[in-house]
Amino acid sequence: MTPEWIEGRGMTSKRTRMRMIERLQTEGIRSEPVLETMASIPRHIFVDEAMAHLAYEDSALPIGYGQTISQPYIVARMTELLLSFGHLKRVLEVGTGCGYQTTVLSKLVDEVYTVERLGILASKATSRWHALSLNNIHSFIADGFQGLKSNAPYDGIIVTACAPELPAALLEQLAPGGVLVIPIGDVSGTQQLYRYHKSGVLQSDGFEFVRFVPLIAGVEGIDH
Ligand code: SAH
Repeated sequence: MTPEWIEGRGMTSKRTRMRMIERLQTEGIRSEPVLETMASIPRHIFVDEAMAHLAYEDSALPIGYGQTISQPYIVARMTELLLSFGHLKRVLEVGTGCGYQTTVLSKLVDEVYTVERLGILASKATSRWHALSLNNIHSFIADGFQGLKSNAPYDGIIVTACAPELPAALLEQLAPGGVLVIPIGDVSGTQQLYRYHKSGVLQSDGFEFVRFVPLIAGVEGIDH
């Protein structure tokens, strides 16, 4: 039986979640697998209890330590872009945060590798994946600017923090035919979502303007 806190009620109920899905459709999200997946995941368990009633609003929310959970539209859009050339087996996510985007990916691809620079966030995310019985997520505390060489190459890479330019290591660790989705730009200025497709020459396409927290070099373990 699903525990009540995962099930949700009132502002965290399945009905509230379905309203979020309808809104995503009106906003232009077309991918059925992405919509169905987001309809199945209790987003409210990825934020603090005091914030749970806001989990299905179309906004980013604080998750502590100066970081945020991306707004549902951005999660849906980035996932849709990542999967736009077909099914992906192995995906690297840079910026685990609360682990919501990771969870969406875990239902749509075979294996998810995720790196986070803040140990405390990685550990909180891991307990949420356990509660949801997900077993295809491999979590690492590491600096995503370097990618995750030990398990490369990846068919897909998704970066959920803003980089000033495409990190070279990520491009190296992308398999031939692979897709990489990343916000690029200034920390406090203009940022845009880009999709790269490594098919022969590298194809690059720009999409919506966005606002992400910055990608920061170096890691902070749980003891800090
Ligand atoms: N995908 C997340 C979004 C988290 S915000 C979600 O669904 O909640 C971006 C995250 O990237 C933050 O947790 C931040 O600590 C992390 N981050 C920033 N720079 C990083 C780096 N160099 N390597 C790994 N993670 C990084």
